[in-house]
Amino acid sequence: MARATGMYTDQAMDCLFCKIIAGQIPSTPVYQDDLAYAFADINPKAPVHVLIVPREHIGSLDEAGKEHRALLGHLMSVAAEIARQRSLAKGYRVVVNTGEHGGQTVDHLHLHLMGGRQMTWPPG
Ligand code: AMP
Ligand code: ZN
Repeated sequence: MARATGMYTDQAMDCLFCKIIAGQIPSTPVYQDDLAYAFADINPKAPVHVLIVPREHIGSLDEAGKEHRALLGHLMSVAAEIARQRSLAKGYRVVVNTGEHGGQTVDHLHLHLMGGRQMTWPPG
């Protein structure tokens, strides 16, 4: 079991997004508050592509518990706020890739906010 040190754990110390949140790896900030940090995706798939992450290390949506329900709602609300700031009035997409079949490549829960072009459906 991971040793808890405040909000951080041994697992989190190896986590790319925890390092970005801590400022140990550079990122382009978009939004921040006590619970969430948002930054530009390094390999954007749309004209606007922002990642919204909880400051707390949660490995994936599958690892989020009932105690995280308010935090999950906050992250969604932040996504909508950023979309309004970026004038995505024609619409946008919020995606949470989860686990192997979901195509998750970074094991720290994150919302993709993508917009600025017509999205297609279904996704790959
Ligand atoms: P996922 O595949 O859903 O886990 O999304 C991970 C996302 O993180 C991808 O869209 C990557 O382009 C993005 N990413 C990986 N490394 C960085 C980084 N150092 N800064 C910003 N975005 C990153
Ligand atoms: Zn993390």
